[in-house]
Amino acid sequence: MKKIALHWQILIALVLAVIYGVFFPTGIEYVAWLGDLFLRALKMVIIPLILSSIISGVTGIGNVENLGRLGAKTLTYYVVTSTLAILIGLFLVNMITPGVGADLGFEKEIEGLAGGGRSLPETLLYIVPSNIFEAFYNSEMLSIIFFAILFGFFITRVDDKYNVILTDFFNSVFEVMMKITMFIIKFTPLGIFGIVAGVVGEQAGDAGALLDLFGRLGLYSLTVILALLFHSLITLPIILKVIGRSDPFKHFKAMTTPLLTAFSTSSSNATLPLTMDAVEHNSGVSNKITSFTLPLGATINMDGTALYECIAAMFIAQAYGVELGVVEQFIVVATALLASIGAAGIPMAGLIMMSVILSAVGLPLEGVGLILAVDRPLDMLRTTVNVWSDSCGAAVIAKTEGEELKI
Ligand code: ASP
Repeated sequence: MKKIALHWQILIALVLAVIYGVFFPTGIEYVAWLGDLFLRALKMVIIPLILSSIISGVTGIGNVENLGRLGAKTLTYYVVTSTLAILIGLFLVNMITPGVGADLGFEKEIEGLAGGGRSLPETLLYIVPSNIFEAFYNSEMLSIIFFAILFGFFITRVDDKYNVILTDFFNSVFEVMMKITMFIIKFTPLGIFGIVAGVVGEQAGDAGALLDLFGRLGLYSLTVILALLFHSLITLPIILKVIGRSDPFKHFKAMTTPLLTAFSTSSSNATLPLTMDAVEHNSGVSNKITSFTLPLGATINMDGTALYECIAAMFIAQAYGVELGVVEQFIVVATALLASIGAAGIPMAGLIMMSVILSAVGLPLEGVGLILAVDRPLDMLRTTVNVWSDSCGAAVIAKTEGEELKI
């Protein structure tokens, strides 16, 4: 029998999951464990994968100039694309004004919002971990990445005697982690079936949230969705075509599995192993570039989250009848960028980071309650855009480094 390609298996699983969730909302407990198990397995590999991948990436890059050049290119791509995304969001939210006249009666309480996110100086300070094992334990991605870059860099600075052993060691660990990842990836359809059946089943029980999505919060959701579409179908493909001189359609096809996984899991971090696999093996980006740019991207490059932060903040301001002038809107743009960088690649991280922007422009934190009902579907969409942008970035950077790609 001919083997069905993984992305078709995932699509079939998605459809079956929706059917299951709608018709057997009471039976989700029988399948939800499949999703939990899959996510646990992905989380299991993330830290050793990121650590070994960055260390082997940095040692592979070799010298300071190369590392500096690659680092500068990567950060430039991340900041530029996130800013473009925010500006599209800002433009659309000012045009559509979804919040004007919105009903404030549908606020919901959310627990643990205040203090959920760290302030900006704290976020910067915490990049340097005081205890690296604590950073592993708490999955502090920025600290882990910082340590890995430092460690990899200094491997290239020690005597050959040590340098060779350590470089071989981390390359070997990375190979093993990729093999384990590939093994887990085979179970993606089952995992996604469990996750999506669970989400649909829960929503089917809470029909109000679905009605909100199409009703009162419809215009707001539509604004976010339009901005996400514009960014992912127009802005990023243009960058990929013009600067990366690659075929956006081919790259999109190569990325089907990670994009569907990002959509289903709402987590760039959980999707990272699949993103690395697809960008390297389907699009043909070298291991040196994927292993440096993608773990960094999954943590700090979130275009979808960035534009969502901006639209959500403006929506809340409009709903409360607060006029934001040019200066305040500039603050929204700047803090949305920082919030997207600071947000972890996990479900709902973007919602938690909203408190940073709201407090920066003096809006009530309870405003987040206004958008809570539709956050899950929007999270699925923005995470897909986050992963899409990371993958385009890897391809663009690889091309500018003179690599031949398959796309
Ligand atoms: N869920 C998103 C991600 O993992 C972050 C967010 O909540 O916006 O990329």
